[in-house]
Amino acid sequence: MRLYPRLSMRGVSEFEVYPANGVGAGVDGAHGMRSSGSWWAYRLPTEVLFGEGRASALGAQVTALGRCPVLVTDAVVGAQSFLRGIRSEVPSAPVFDAVEANPTVGTVDALADLLRVQGCDVVVAVGGGSVMDCAKAGCALARGPAGQSIRRYHSGGEALGPDRVPLIAVPTTSGTGSEVTPFAVLDDPEKGLKAPLSSPSLYPTVAVVDPALTYSMPLRVTASTGLDALSHAMEGYWSRQHQPFCDMLAMEAGRLVFEWFEAVCLDPFDSEGRRWMAYAATLAGAAFQIPKNAMVHACSFPLSSRFHLPHGTACAFVLDAAIRFNAPALGDRLEAFAAYCGFASVEVMAAEVRRFKRLGGLPCTLEEAGIPESALESLVAESFHPLMRNNPVEVQPEDLLRLYAGLRAEATPDPGPAAGT
Ligand code: ZN
Repeated sequence: MRLYPRLSMRGVSEFEVYPANGVGAGVDGAHGMRSSGSWWAYRLPTEVLFGEGRASALGAQVTALGRCPVLVTDAVVGAQSFLRGIRSEVPSAPVFDAVEANPTVGTVDALADLLRVQGCDVVVAVGGGSVMDCAKAGCALARGPAGQSIRRYHSGGEALGPDRVPLIAVPTTSGTGSEVTPFAVLDDPEKGLKAPLSSPSLYPTVAVVDPALTYSMPLRVTASTGLDALSHAMEGYWSRQHQPFCDMLAMEAGRLVFEWFEAVCLDPFDSEGRRWMAYAATLAGAAFQIPKNAMVHACSFPLSSRFHLPHGTACAFVLDAAIRFNAPALGDRLEAFAAYCGFASVEVMAAEVRRFKRLGGLPCTLEEAGIPESALESLVAESFHPLMRNNPVEVQPEDLLRLYAGLRAEATPDPGPAAGT
C-alpha cells in the first residue's frame, strides 16, 4: 500500500490509500520505526526554538542543561560579528573552532577528548551542517567508553550508546536541517570514506533557529544550502520509506524554498525571505529524518569527496536530473508535489531547479563542476551508497552514466523564468 496525496481546492490536504508495489514499506534503522502503507511513526525529540534574535538569548537554555559549556564552531563563523553576542551568553565556555568544511573522524575524537578532560556537560554548536554534525558525534562519543574513536561507530558498524552530552544546535545556514536530524556526515580520510553516521543519540537536545544568523551567507552558500534543503524535501517525499506525516512537511518545505529562494539570492538582507528559508530548512530536516534521503544524496558523496563540491552544490548538481529520472515512476505523487509548489508540471519544476542553480552561480555541467569524462565510470561506481536503495526507482550504473552524459554541456538554452510559478 502507499499513500497518494489528492489535490483539493486548497492544495494537498487529503490522502487516499492505493495498493502499490511495496513502495513505502521499510524500517528506519535509527528508530526501529516501520513505515508501511497506513502504518507509520514519527518522532522528533529535539525541542525547536525559532525566531530572530533567539540566539542572543541562549543563556537560559545553557544553564538549564549544564554548568560547564563548550562552544563549538569553525573559523568562518568565528569571524562573524554575531558570534560576540552568542559568546556573551556563555562567557566562561572554551571555544573549539577546529571543525573543517568536511568534519573528520579525528576532529570528532579531539572534541570528545576535550569534553571528557574538561568535564563539560553541555555543548553549544554554532555553524552549518559541518559544525553541528561534528558536535553531535562528539557529544555522543564523549559519554562512551574512554579512548574510543568515532571510527568504531562510523565505519565499524557498531551502534552508539544512548547517553550523550546535551547539545544546543544553532544553525547559521538554511540547508542541512542537521539541527533536527539523527545523522552526522563524517569524513574518514584514511579510508577515503565520507558517509553519514545514524543514531537516535545524535538528535540535538535543543535547536535554536535564528534566521538573523543567516544574513551574512554569501550568494553561493545561500544557493547551495537552499538547494540542499530542497533536496531533503524532495528525497524525503520520494523515499521508499515515505509516509504521510513527512510528506506534508516535505511539500511545505519545498513550496517555501521555491517561493523564497530567488528573493534571498537577490537580497541577503531580505528578512522575510531569510525567515522562510530558515523555517523551510528545519522543516525539510524534519521531513527526511525518518524516510531518509535517496539517489541525490547517494550521488553527492563522491561528488563532494572527489571533486570537492560543497554538499548542497553536489546535491543540486544532480537534483533536476533526478526529478526527471524518478518522475515516471512517481506519476501523480510527484505531479501533486509540483502542483502544491505552484508549478504547471514536474518538468517546469525541474527547469526551475536548474534556473536556481544558474542564479546562485552553481555548476550545471560536468565541465563547470571540474569532472573529466575519464572520471565518470569510477564516479558512478562510488555513488552506490546504501541510500541509493532508498530511491523509488532502482538505479543501475548505466542509468547514472546516462544522467551524467546529460550534464556534459548545455544541451538546451537556459530556460527563462518558469511558467506556472
Ligand atoms: Zn543534504
